[in-house]
Amino acid sequence: MASKVFDWIEKERQRQEHNIELIASENFVSEDVMRAVGSCLTNKYSEGYPPERPTGNRGRYYGGCVYVDELEQYCCDLWQEVFNTDYHVNVQPHSGSSANLAAYLSVLKPGDGILAMDLNNGGHLTHGSAVNFSGKLFRMAFYDVNAQGFIDMEDVRRKALEHKPQLILAGASAYSRILDFAAFSEIAREVGAYFMVDMAHIAGLVAAGDHPSPFGLADIITTTTHKTLRGTRGGLIFCKPELAKKVDSAVFPGTQGGPLQHVIAGKAVTAEEACTEEYREYIHQVVRNCKAMSQEFLRRGYQVVTGGTDNHLFLLDLTATGLTGKAVQEELDRHGITLNKNCVPHDTRSPQQTSGVRIGTAAMTTKGYKEADFIRVAGEIDAVIQEMKQKA
Ligand code: PLP
Repeated sequence: MASKVFDWIEKERQRQEHNIELIASENFVSEDVMRAVGSCLTNKYSEGYPPERPTGNRGRYYGGCVYVDELEQYCCDLWQEVFNTDYHVNVQPHSGSSANLAAYLSVLKPGDGILAMDLNNGGHLTHGSAVNFSGKLFRMAFYDVNAQGFIDMEDVRRKALEHKPQLILAGASAYSRILDFAAFSEIAREVGAYFMVDMAHIAGLVAAGDHPSPFGLADIITTTTHKTLRGTRGGLIFCKPELAKKVDSAVFPGTQGGPLQHVIAGKAVTAEEACTEEYREYIHQVVRNCKAMSQEFLRRGYQVVTGGTDNHLFLLDLTATGLTGKAVQEELDRHGITLNKNCVPHDTRSPQQTSGVRIGTAAMTTKGYKEADFIRVAGEIDAVIQEMKQKA
């Protein structure tokens, strides 16, 4: 009997085929990634690490791991190639959130301090939100953005000196400008804190050379593999070789059990793809498209946070329209355009309502969209918003 589940999968497949997908954290993976993730590797238990692991954590707790050992090692080697680095890599985190949990616990203990970007200003839940493990386990302090929405590096330094955190975190879910990793790392050195980068959103740009690299500067780097990296859903942790044993122990047995070998296979295919010239060209196009679309909104009189973008996303500030991000997201959904409501810096509305929406170009660029297509979609979004304003 065919499972009922496949009806929903087919409906979702069609939704993905027909909608204009502008969620900045989403993308469309290749058939090869799908094949790897949907493979018999899902049947295999392999707690532990491959025998070649350069840390004391090597060896598995199960028999029959000969092929997954080779696969996991291959995956690790490839990710070093993607970022041209000799940092140690752990490919087992099930998600970006699990990667961050293990990364924190590799060098911190509960009660230690972290200085990060607030969720309301563009950070992620796992960067210290009170409702998340990060906000519950650690003593959080947050640096601010200035009136235009740029990270205020003076404030980072002031807060670092004031709160003396054990770890300073750079990285965001809704920040459209270059992160100054060199400046962050200097401040971390000044106060004797670890420097961690969560490059989940911009990892593809780092791989393609469209954003400065944190390698060489950060002690620990986490990422997801499913946003601009255009791969299977999952997480990775990179660290300086001297932290390798701590990071491996924090992932397994610290915070996870058996790794998802089917997902590790998907991550390996993702890495193979990210090493190609075609992928680098794709990322260059993502950035060109994002600049073109944000410019078009500016031309139409909209407020874009920071006045533009350097990466794959931007925030549209809807304050002047009187409309909430929630209402615009819902109305656009009815028009087959998918994006998400998002707080703008110093937002006076709640995260459930918001005064902005976040727009990203990674997914539709995978579908072949160029600058002219994104300019056309900006016009379509503008038309929907104008209609909403008239009805309000
Ligand atoms: N870090 C950042 C900066 C993110 O934007 C996200 C997800 O959006 C995550 C971590 C968490 O990733 P996941 O949803 O895989 O747990």
